[in-house]
Amino acid sequence: MVKVYLKKKIAPRIANGHPWIFANEVDKVSGSIAAGDIVDVYFADDKFAGRGYANPQSQIMIRLLTRKQETIDEQFFYQRILQAWHYRQKLGYTENCRLIFGEADGMPALIIDKFNDYFVIQTMAYGIDVWKPAIINALQSIFSPKGIYERNDVPVRELEGLAQQKGFLTAPFSPEIVINENGLQFYVDIENGQKTGYFLDQQDNRRAIQHIVKGADVLGAFTYTGTFEIHAAHYGAKSVLGLDISENAVRQATRNAQLNKLDHICKFEAVNAFDVLKQWTKDGRKYDVVMLDPPAFTKSRENIQKAITGYKEINLRGMKLVKNGGFLVTSSCTNLIQPDVFLETIEMAAWDARKRLRQVTFQAQASDHPIIWGMENTNYLKFLIVEVTDR
Ligand code: SAH
Repeated sequence: MVKVYLKKKIAPRIANGHPWIFANEVDKVSGSIAAGDIVDVYFADDKFAGRGYANPQSQIMIRLLTRKQETIDEQFFYQRILQAWHYRQKLGYTENCRLIFGEADGMPALIIDKFNDYFVIQTMAYGIDVWKPAIINALQSIFSPKGIYERNDVPVRELEGLAQQKGFLTAPFSPEIVINENGLQFYVDIENGQKTGYFLDQQDNRRAIQHIVKGADVLGAFTYTGTFEIHAAHYGAKSVLGLDISENAVRQATRNAQLNKLDHICKFEAVNAFDVLKQWTKDGRKYDVVMLDPPAFTKSRENIQKAITGYKEINLRGMKLVKNGGFLVTSSCTNLIQPDVFLETIEMAAWDARKRLRQVTFQAQASDHPIIWGMENTNYLKFLIVEVTDR
């Protein structure tokens, strides 16, 4: 097996559990590496660091799979997937969960979402893509699923020299399925929905609005399939208006409201939330509860400041639309913005909006998307509820 020696200075990060090795962190390589090869990695002092898959074409040259000298074969992936399932079961998951959350489950660049008897997978690096048959076999033998679908229509694959593609990995099935969450039902379009079709990471946070929406007039922006809005109606909101820029999202949200017989309470409109929130603030509209769940504002470090400005702006508008003593429910899924920075941004927005905030709860993503200490970017979802009063 090819041996890769690391430069001295990156040792602490790797020793501390981070699995990525960038090309410029490699000192020397004994032999030549082809994309997808399994290689052994050593610290500068010749100590074994771990074993992983390599891709000389990628900026992330190696992603470690293990810190042991164990064989990487079909059985290895079977065991890892089984362990991940046991962990989720221990936490109480039965039907739907993110079964594999990449690095956080020791399988870098692999995502598997379990929607009841259906599975959606993404293999986002060359070295994991080559193991797709082993991964499918493992899912087959652990779950006997009704279907597996590949959502590899993601641009990051091109950085790895992989084509974007999607399609069935088992016999074809109807790609629109229905899942249960918190006693409600949702259509999930695993073929054409965003990402894997549904945002499982907010499942606990959707429950967190239960008490504050009772009897309330609720405004939700960035609704996608209407999950937060339908939860609000279910928990007793008087009226709910959901906004999303995508006509398709509004269509799906409306169908989901109908599916739960809550369409007399929940209405959805296809508009640009940035424009509308600005206008409605000027018009003096007010709601008991305003909920914001925008998409990630940046994926690159260069644009962090811009993203912060975006969060400040949207939250400032959101707060102004809240009645005195009402609630703002606000999320951020930008992994480059850490929780403390998010809270500071909200604080700045409150200052400019002349509002005082009282925190109800501050949470992260559901625990089927584990946060690994030492791997900052696994701590990506910020979810905050605050009471908003006039200053
Ligand atoms: N709350 C959803 C997830 C939202 S994802 C859930 O729990 O499942 C973010 C959504 O914001 C996407 O559906 C996207 O279409 C929408 N979006 C992006 N830009 C927007 C804009 N300017 N105005 C309104 N919606 C927007």
